[in-house]
Amino acid sequence: MLETVNPATGEVLAAYPEHSRREVDAAVAAAREAAAWWAGLGWPGRRVRLLAWKSHLVRYMGRLAQLVHEETGKPLQDATLEVVLAVLHIDWAARHARRVLRPRRVRSGLAAIHLAATVEYQPLGVVGVIGPWNYPVFTPVGSIAYALAAGNAVVFKPSELVPATGAWLARSFGEALAVFGDARPVLQLVTGGGATGEALARSGVAKIAFTGSAATARKVLAAAADTLTPVIAECGGKDAMLVAADADLDAAADAAAWGAMSNAGQTCVGIERVYVAEGAYHTFLEKLARRVAGLRPGPDGGAAYGPMTSAAQAEVVARHVADALARGGRPVVGGPDAVAGPGPYLRPVVLADVPEDSAAVREETFGPTVTVAPVPGLAEAVTLANRSRYGLGSAVFARDRAAAMAAARALRSGMTSINSVLGFALVPALPFGGVAESGFGRVHGADGLREFTRPKAITRQRMRPPVNLMSFGRTPRDMRRIVTFVTVVHGRLYRPRGRARGRRGR
Ligand code: NAD
Repeated sequence: MLETVNPATGEVLAAYPEHSRREVDAAVAAAREAAAWWAGLGWPGRRVRLLAWKSHLVRYMGRLAQLVHEETGKPLQDATLEVVLAVLHIDWAARHARRVLRPRRVRSGLAAIHLAATVEYQPLGVVGVIGPWNYPVFTPVGSIAYALAAGNAVVFKPSELVPATGAWLARSFGEALAVFGDARPVLQLVTGGGATGEALARSGVAKIAFTGSAATARKVLAAAADTLTPVIAECGGKDAMLVAADADLDAAADAAAWGAMSNAGQTCVGIERVYVAEGAYHTFLEKLARRVAGLRPGPDGGAAYGPMTSAAQAEVVARHVADALARGGRPVVGGPDAVAGPGPYLRPVVLADVPEDSAAVREETFGPTVTVAPVPGLAEAVTLANRSRYGLGSAVFARDRAAAMAAARALRSGMTSINSVLGFALVPALPFGGVAESGFGRVHGADGLREFTRPKAITRQRMRPPVNLMSFGRTPRDMRRIVTFVTVVHGRLYRPRGRARGRRGR
């Protein structure tokens, strides 16, 4: 059995089974039947049931938030915010699945004028979702809601640190279905650690949506390779914030403090590095230090953030801070004692003058720390931000809109917020995901819906072809006609003309 523990108190909250390979396979087999029924419901049937699930979460938001608070230690308000975001995603996925995925005609082109062409996005069948512990509602729902809305059944394995939250989510969906008189296992829960996750990756599901560390993503990919199961990998990050000389420094400092320290820094898209234009550096650092120095972790409602959910991660944070200071870094707020423990609460740390090749700048720290460094301007900030093996989110603070947009585009990350942090997580229509070691594939938005489908291309011959190319009856004259056609239409020397000359893509 797997015990789930309140990280703030050490109290055992509940115990869940460690599901074996056989049990996972049985869940997937049951899900296959449920998937056929769920797909057969059609868009309106799925939409109304997903919206019912959404209202269920809103009605019982307090209970779910309380459970997340107990299981992760995060403040109740933060847990509530997570549920709110999940609700927005379920709503978006339910309401937009039909428009994004339904069959649509595409132009067949002159050479195929005799064919009508359509593309549609069909469900995959059963999707396996493997979740992390840091946002145990928002993160898995970002995969589950979109997979369900696209017509799939889901087998969900939450992190071994948050099985109770996972169980609550799966049960709540079952309760929402029961209102319609349905009792199909469309969303099932399997619990356990890495072995259960590996069993799911090997079970022959149609796709795995994995969220967790890059190291585990490699293991999931290796396990999925045997069955050629495709994987979406939502992994960690080392997100940078860029602050231009003309930026609103109060807003930037406020956003950096929250982006770095909220949820005790245990946020995949948390701010871990800040690069500030030299002219604004000292003022920014002072403003950031003032805000961060006032933050207090704790178990009570007035605390800024809660405990480290995993003791192992606290050790990583302490190691990064110690290494940064040993290599010449300067503590602006906090220091080694702030993150030394004992106990699950780490105080915030702001570090300056940390060498770019130290662990605190290169590796995911996942704790309440941030490094701040001066740079000549936004261009250099982009270069340093991009010198990372991760590329999940990023943020730019600048008043010059064109400069901010140019920096946002140049940042090698899946998402960028300008003049705010984590703005992209608030917009369900936007795709969420990373590049490089932050993973691949997208959840959320239209791209997130399509991830859980297979595009199906259909042509229908609507008249006799002018030239039948796909037949042994094709004659040399037919070939001459098609070559003449291609030469006339596509063969002329192509030169830029008039306004097109020198025009740059915008
Ligand atoms: P983790 O990699 O330790 O575990 C993630 C999940 O994988 C857990 O459910 C775990 O049981 C499972 N797992 C472990 N070994 C496995 C194996 N061999 N086969 C299959 N599954 C296995 O990650 P974590 O500590 O739970 O989460 C923190 C990490 O997740 C951080 O790196 C964070 O940045 C990242 N994260 C990313 C996003 C995102 O959307 N990109 C969101 C939240 C968290």
